[in-house]
Amino acid sequence: MSSKTLPILPGAYDSTRASARSGSESFRAKLPILPGATLGILGGGQLGRMFTIAARTMGYKVMVLDPDAASPAGQMADVHLQADYTDHGALRQLGAACAAVTTEFENVPAASLIELAQHCRVSPGAAAVAIAQDRSHEKSWLREQGFATAPFALVNSEAGLDAALAETGAPALLKVSRFGYDGKGQARVASLAEARAAFKEFGGQPCVLEGFVTLEREVSVVLARNDAGECALFPVAENRHENGILDLSIVPARVSDALAEQARDMARAIADRLGYVGVMAVEFFIADGRLMVNEIAPRPHNSGHYTLDACVTDQFEQQLRALAGLPLGDTRLLSPAAMVNILGDRWQNGGPHWDALLAHPNIKLHLYGKEAARPGRKMGHFNVLDADLPAALALAEKMRDAL
Ligand code: AMP
Repeated sequence: MSSKTLPILPGAYDSTRASARSGSESFRAKLPILPGATLGILGGGQLGRMFTIAARTMGYKVMVLDPDAASPAGQMADVHLQADYTDHGALRQLGAACAAVTTEFENVPAASLIELAQHCRVSPGAAAVAIAQDRSHEKSWLREQGFATAPFALVNSEAGLDAALAETGAPALLKVSRFGYDGKGQARVASLAEARAAFKEFGGQPCVLEGFVTLEREVSVVLARNDAGECALFPVAENRHENGILDLSIVPARVSDALAEQARDMARAIADRLGYVGVMAVEFFIADGRLMVNEIAPRPHNSGHYTLDACVTDQFEQQLRALAGLPLGDTRLLSPAAMVNILGDRWQNGGPHWDALLAHPNIKLHLYGKEAARPGRKMGHFNVLDADLPAALALAEKMRDAL
């Protein structure tokens, strides 16, 4: 008899993955797309993984396109197409096999979405993704549409920094327009000299300079919008970031009902103006009691991970429902919740201590199957559910520190 030590804790991943079959089924977008059909996703990170799990749970097949052989979603998919997002052959194969394709991250080239749309249903559409994937476009679009943002100026050259800083005031944050995420590609600058140094460090690429706002709170709204323009909004989450990375979300957000309603109204208005179909998230700053839009994400969002355990429908099932043209699911909150991100840093000093976490029956652990635990890398998260929000928050913080 084997003498394995109990409990067996997370971390021993079987990296054998479904071998790639060539897609022979061809599903065209006759809506709704029902179980048995193949759905595709561009991007194989944790968001793609949770979409894949939701879709497979509901009886769909999933094809993931991601260049990384060990991609978290690829491990869960029926088929992992290991190719670049611009690979025409792979896009053709994906389009031929799938009834519909969605995306899990905004840096998928909009051109790839356009190419795919010739073969199958694609949501969200290229236009919305193109706005969200470029911070300069996104901020300019928000301003044009009349949505409040932090003061900002576009910077396309070193010579433009002086005027930009005069517009935003100091201190300010210089942020690269493209491919920045989780606080990467951002620098806090207090003077023109610092702004110049940061701009050089970013290689002189187009940036946005943003006035530094004294934040009372940060909140976000995840919503889904369908082809008919109907919206289903999840409860407002309150978010705490550390070093530009989401650390903890609390739901419901500790804001007045009026402010929560205003955040949901603004998020819905943004989705409407974009003619958006799919799941999206809008992040807000709250300063002086007012909401400012920080960012739009054309996909499920880290701050919506609480929905996995705390809502009737989670954001990934909702992504599937919008993609498949099914009625949108009920977004009701079943329990207050606190969500904590588990970063690769936890692996540095003998952790994580899963036994301490799993000792609590009201904590739900989600790990993403990533083998290399680098500092700052999102490895998983856990949700604490408690009818009493302060108790959920206290346990979340205690476990965060104990992990
Ligand atoms: P971002 O990647 O732009 O969402 O920034 C990551 C985090 O940095 C935000 O969630 C805030 O906590 C902080 N941050 C970003 N921009 C500003 C700003 N203009 N003023 C104050 N804090 C900011």
